[in-house]
Amino acid sequence: MTFLGNQIAVAIGPVVLDDVERSIKKRCSEPAVISVRQPLCKSHFIRDFESRVAATIKKYKLISKKDRIVVACSGGKDSTAILYLLNKWFGNVTALAIDEGIPGYRNLTLEDLRNFCGRSDIPLKVLSYKKAFGFSLHEALRKVTVLPCNICGTLRRYLLNSGARGFTKIATGHNLDDEAQSIMMNFFKGNLGLAARLGPISGVVEDEKFVPRIKPLYFCYEKEVAAYAFLKKFGIRFNECPHASVSFRASVRDFLNGLEQEQPGTKQNIVSNFLRLLPKLKKRYAASASISHCSTCGEPASNGLCKACSYVNSLRESLQVKSFRKSF
Ligand SMILES: [Zn+2]
Ligand SMILES: [Zn+2]
Repeated sequence: MTFLGNQIAVAIGPVVLDDVERSIKKRCSEPAVISVRQPLCKSHFIRDFESRVAATIKKYKLISKKDRIVVACSGGKDSTAILYLLNKWFGNVTALAIDEGIPGYRNLTLEDLRNFCGRSDIPLKVLSYKKAFGFSLHEALRKVTVLPCNICGTLRRYLLNSGARGFTKIATGHNLDDEAQSIMMNFFKGNLGLAARLGPISGVVEDEKFVPRIKPLYFCYEKEVAAYAFLKKFGIRFNECPHASVSFRASVRDFLNGLEQEQPGTKQNIVSNFLRLLPKLKKRYAASASISHCSTCGEPASNGLCKACSYVNSLRESLQVKSFRKSF
């Protein structure tokens, strides 16, 4: 599978796609380190990967000169890779991390992130569940029976959006595997309205309090991001959230990995076909979507109370949390 078309002649920073296209077509005697799309040596793979990310930014107009970028970081491979690249190409980026309170996991990934940001001179802002909501994920899970990913789906997004105020774009580390999973999860759940929010740049409606999200790794397989992070020696751990294995996403991920093995290109096909449908979905759901503001915290909400406030309200009694603290 080749990835470089004539339409993507673009230069961002040191990456010039025309040059990369020529050099990859040449015979290379170096040993291949990865063979996802084609066998590539270390230096050609790195150039291939960076070119594809640069092309995605260009093609979908993810970043303009006026943008102030915050990168949603977890300390994992995907967000560290995009933090590194956006800092290298555009400079002046800020890292924003959420500490859910997952002992033995998040404290370690945050340590990696702090070290990385320190070495790269990137400002880092960390918001925690404990400080914002009065309880950590660990405390919540000890007292209530709820799927951890459901809590994080709501509360992480909430803190990322409110923590990104003042910036014009939130860049996330979502890769091709993540997007194929999200598309299929929404299809399986019959939720096309949510699927309309996917794509390389998110959102169906504009609101001054809603910071658009961009996904520059949109066309990179997870394997490729992992290889890139490994080869670039970012000094991070490659472990997964201990709660990830019990989520619906994990089932869809395993299912898609199985299909990809049987039928290579499956994930890519899901995403490319979805992108053909997306303009229609956005049009259809923009008409019915309206953003109001939460009566409790003032953040964007689809009805009177935002999802985070209603979630926190429902947990408050069991967790003995007195008030919703908005302290960020
Ligand atoms: Zn090579
Ligand atoms: Zn609220």
